[in-house]
Amino acid sequence: MTTERAERLIESFKTKFDAMPDVLVRAPGRVNLIGEHTDYNDGFVFPVAIDRDIMVASRRREDLTVRLYSLDYDQSVEFALGDIKYDDDKKWSNYPRGVAHFLQESEYSISGLDAVITGNVPIGAGLSSSAAMEVAMAVAFERACGLNIDPVEMALLCQKAENNFVGVNCGIMDQFISRLGKKDHALLLDCRTLEYELVPLNLENIKIVVCNTGKKRGLVDSEYNKRRAECERGVKILEKFLPGISALRDIEIDDIRKYSSHIPEITEKRCLYVVKENIRVLESVSAIKEHDLLKFGELMNESHIGLRDEYEVSCPELDAMVEIAWGIDGVIGSRMTGAGFGGCTVSIVVEDCLQELIDKVNEEYPKRTGLQPEIYICTAEDGAGIIEI
Ligand code: ADP
Ligand code: MG
Repeated sequence: MTTERAERLIESFKTKFDAMPDVLVRAPGRVNLIGEHTDYNDGFVFPVAIDRDIMVASRRREDLTVRLYSLDYDQSVEFALGDIKYDDDKKWSNYPRGVAHFLQESEYSISGLDAVITGNVPIGAGLSSSAAMEVAMAVAFERACGLNIDPVEMALLCQKAENNFVGVNCGIMDQFISRLGKKDHALLLDCRTLEYELVPLNLENIKIVVCNTGKKRGLVDSEYNKRRAECERGVKILEKFLPGISALRDIEIDDIRKYSSHIPEITEKRCLYVVKENIRVLESVSAIKEHDLLKFGELMNESHIGLRDEYEVSCPELDAMVEIAWGIDGVIGSRMTGAGFGGCTVSIVVEDCLQELIDKVNEEYPKRTGLQPEIYICTAEDGAGIIEI
């Protein structure tokens, strides 16, 4: 499939720009296996890069013009590197614009570029097509201009593009895994220090299955901000008793229990979830290293229950999807993934039971929700790189 898409991309480049591209880049989407809403609490996340990506065919220009064609939207844009503005009309172009802007701000000297972009990361499903787009464009500029950008720095730069140019308040996980992921590995990321560890998954006959609820993530912005505020409030209160703490990362379950009478009930629930989720991530990594996937599955299930009952960011559609998965013996673990209020679930499933899961989801989920599910069976892939032409 990759080869066919690459060929189509090259053909499109030739038609648009009347030349061969110099380089073909891909950057993957991602799914977070466990560690939700921990990133902005200086905690841990555990994503994998998946076999769905944004591909960019590009060719260096000698001037300072950038010409982009989106194959999927069938739209072209052109801008000058010296004058990069937000595009209200062709919003997809703001990701590459932001990346070019922040590359220059970081004092990388870049030249113009002709590029064609295509992707098969489902858009807006929570698998981070946006980060894939940013990272693919950053690598395209890096290659075209003979730069050598440290991968962690590149991830930070792409995050900046999304935060400050596109205007989406995302953490570092998505860009980090899209750039630094590794085939057959998940990545434990410490969102405080940006230290990371690639952990071999040894999945053998186990599959990673992502189920898209088809529910648009409606409430997510306002509720997301509320959750962040609750976490900050928890830290503020506990700081009085525990000087030196700066995030929920620094707090233990017993601290919350001990000072419980000072913490509003909702704040306490939110804080407890975050503290427990951080522990679950670290326990998941140990379980995987010990080849104890059953334990990992239990932790995934507990994570969902925490997100549903303590953090309250699930929704009936996510719960239905997870409950259907939990009802199947070969499903080792299942949980919502992403910010919540819609989007996807992630499950780990014994290969022999895959069809049963697919049939059950297709049969029961629409009955329970009136929505049509989509199912993606994913493999853990390398982070961004070059496709040899
Ligand atoms: P998510 O990252 O969860 O997929 P976002 O809303 O953050 O959702 O990012 C989706 C946006 O990224 C799209 O609206 C579009 O602007 C851009 N994008 C994603 N995939 C493509 C693509 N294949 N071609 C052009 N733009 C894309
Ligand atoms: Mg996104």
